[in-house]
Amino acid sequence: MGLTNLIKVLLIEDNLAEARLLHEVLKGATRQEFQLFHEKRLQDALKQLETQTFNIILLDLTLPDSQGLDSLVPITNKNSHIPIVVLTNINDEELALEAVRKGAQDYLVKRHITLDILVRSICYAIERKQMEEKLKEVNQALEKRVEERTTQLLKAQELNQLKSEFVSMLSHDFRNPLNTILLSAGLLEESHDQLPREQQLLYFQMIRNAVQDMNQLLSEVLLLGKADSGKLKPNFNELDLKEFCQQIIHSLHLSFEESSQIILNFDGDFQSNLELWDEKLLWHILHNLLSNALKYSPEGGKIFVDILAEEKSVTFRVKDQGIGISQASQKHLFEPFYRADNVENISGTGLGLSIVRKCVEAYEGNIFVESQLGKGTTFTVILPRQQPLMSKMEKSIEPI
Ligand code: ATP
Ligand code: MG
Repeated sequence: MGLTNLIKVLLIEDNLAEARLLHEVLKGATRQEFQLFHEKRLQDALKQLETQTFNIILLDLTLPDSQGLDSLVPITNKNSHIPIVVLTNINDEELALEAVRKGAQDYLVKRHITLDILVRSICYAIERKQMEEKLKEVNQALEKRVEERTTQLLKAQELNQLKSEFVSMLSHDFRNPLNTILLSAGLLEESHDQLPREQQLLYFQMIRNAVQDMNQLLSEVLLLGKADSGKLKPNFNELDLKEFCQQIIHSLHLSFEESSQIILNFDGDFQSNLELWDEKLLWHILHNLLSNALKYSPEGGKIFVDILAEEKSVTFRVKDQGIGISQASQKHLFEPFYRADNVENISGTGLGLSIVRKCVEAYEGNIFVESQLGKGTTFTVILPRQQPLMSKMEKSIEPI
């Protein structure tokens, strides 16, 4: 900070005699050199300000093209960093004070101007403006930090809320199978082997299913946790993609007793055993999308699965003719535990799609949904294709 040796002054003053007088006064300065530029009209002064910079502006408040405080605004709008000293007549002091309140650094009564007063006022105005600018910078930096901290705090609060929601949903979803186990085990115990064998088997089966549900829920939550901490990384291995998809569909057909039909169609070039895929991630993606398609379709509904192999990627499209998803719900589909209003009594935890999304992200792929309420839903997943093993090996062998 500090004053430069040469101070460039822009004097905006229509009275030539006053201007000349100020010029003469400034010439007498010894410790500081001043270079005075003079403009008679505000418009001309504004033009000057566009082409060069000044250290200070001396502004007369009565100009031919602008009166009073009206002159301040157009100057400060574009040159807020340049200090302004207002020049005023004896009877104008009230106006000059108002100008200072509106951003001018100082005011001088023309008749009282001496070299000392003028130089001191100019130097003080420049120093004060520089301090003001510095303060403004510090303030802005502080404001920015406060803003950043506030967003961080809000995020932390949001995260905490999400966490507690997650825990309460999870305990709720655990309680159902636990109740089933408790109830079935209690009935078996109290029956003292008096129950018919078939009934006993049924209770055992219910216990087994409940344990399986809990196991699945736990592994899904673990997978989500892993994804959130960035530890879900694909582990590529050779896989026959066609056979793998056929197997998933076959096992789903077995577990869904309803008569829905899955129509599988492959297109493009599949390199049977040389393809590299992460079997686990792919299983989560396809299994969840397909079981949703089956679950949310009416009995006898058709589900079309199209798998298209292209040079760099494979597109998996699962299309159903089921209950559909409203536009509003589509935004939340991938949030853990979210379930749309129209699921009615179809059971589910709302974790499937959030897992699908995490797996797709781990693959660095993309997922899209298109849906119409009551008409059906199509999920499209595009996953990048890994280099076939052979060409990868060939690449890694450097020529000798
Ligand atoms: P689960 O965790 O057992 O999979 P879920 O199926 O309810 O439970 P998601 O698979 O995450 O959970 O799906 C979230 C919600 O998205 C569903 O509850 C349902 O409202 C909607 N949804 C998903 N797929 C379909 C679909 N094919 N047709 C209609 N609605 C769907
Ligand atoms: Mg699901």
